Amino acid sequence: MGNAEPVRLPSDQDASGRSFGDEELALLREVLDSGVLGSIRGSVTKAFEAAASELLGAGHAVAVASGTAAVHSAIAALDPEPGEEIVTTGITDIGGIAPILYQGAIPAFADVDPRTGNVTAETVAAALSERTRAVIVTHLFGNPCDTAAIVEVAAAHGVPVIEDCAQALLSRGADGALVGTYGDIACYSLQQGKQASTGEGGLVLARDEETARRVRLYVNKAWEYGSPDPDHRSLALNYRFTELGSAVALAQLAKLPAGIAARIAAADALTAAIGDLPGITPPVVTPGATHSYWRYALLVDPAVHEGGSPTLGASLADLGVPAAARYIKKPAWRCGLFTEQKTFGTSRWPFTLARPEALDYAAERFPGTFEYLDRVLVLPWNERYTAEHAAILASAIGDAVREPVPAR
Ligand SMILES: *Cc1c(COP(=O)(O)O)cnc(C)c1O
Repeated sequence: MGNAEPVRLPSDQDASGRSFGDEELALLREVLDSGVLGSIRGSVTKAFEAAASELLGAGHAVAVASGTAAVHSAIAALDPEPGEEIVTTGITDIGGIAPILYQGAIPAFADVDPRTGNVTAETVAAALSERTRAVIVTHLFGNPCDTAAIVEVAAAHGVPVIEDCAQALLSRGADGALVGTYGDIACYSLQQGKQASTGEGGLVLARDEETARRVRLYVNKAWEYGSPDPDHRSLALNYRFTELGSAVALAQLAKLPAGIAARIAAADALTAAIGDLPGITPPVVTPGATHSYWRYALLVDPAVHEGGSPTLGASLADLGVPAAARYIKKPAWRCGLFTEQKTFGTSRWPFTLARPEALDYAAERFPGTFEYLDRVLVLPWNERYTAEHAAILASAIGDAVREPVPAR
């Protein structure tokens, strides 16, 4: 290999790839000095919610404990009947899927576009049934789905759309609208490795006030704050965010546009550098849309590169580039949770309520999902990546393509 020195890239798992500084510290100091660390009495979480709804443009914001809590609260606000189905993707974080089962609903998996890993209006339409209660759209790696078309399909079926924007802060659809503003509810994660981080944390944005009220109730153990006759009138959890998290989140939001711009600039530089390599396809973005590059996912054609994405990934690892072949190793329905139906005790509930068709995971129903997972190679990415890092990566990818090492 041409490169003896392992390359050094910033990582979002430590300070090298994150942007925490005096702004976060000043707000944290304010919170500590106030002595109010809980969001019910504090003012910083309210300020964070206001700033988030302003920046993300999707209505009423509720800060929550995690991205998983965001998706769970969104589904709980829709209050599905046990056994109803929620259409989703097999290529996502399990935190986007487990809440469906917790609310007694059944994940009905839609196939994805093999070029992007995203669900489409066609694959969502094929997954709808008379028991569909909602559709979840996940903008994979920050590459926006054709959400307008999906919302149209869902609306014709009379069901709402939840946008899982955990990987897609400030992504925009082809018409220029921010992701999260197409559907009825949008969910975000503030976990360590996401585009804006507080270590753990999340956010729900609901378009209408009534949905936001139900989300807020769910996050607050169903206690009716502000009501003249408060009570616990339904089943709910404590998914509240803290004032400390909101202090960091508020400072991170102010830095987000610059951080996303940096991600895009570095990604565009890499795409320009590797776009002509045979058998390598840079991220496929719809013309006019904005990919916010949580990760940089390229496709490797195994007919051109022997061993495909795993071999190229191993060659890059040899050069010090931590590339992940396949992202998640398999579609969600091949995880033990689905194959063993290990849920509540030995009950297998709510799988026991499902239509058999909703549990049909035959591979031929998901050609796009398998093709995408076979070909994708995911490069870590963050706001500290520059054109220089893109050049290092382009050179490593060029080396790996010319002199592959066998996959281990
Ligand atoms: C990270 C992520 C989640 C879960 O968020 P956590 O904060 O880790 O709970 C849900 N959906 C998607 C698409 C994610 O990337």
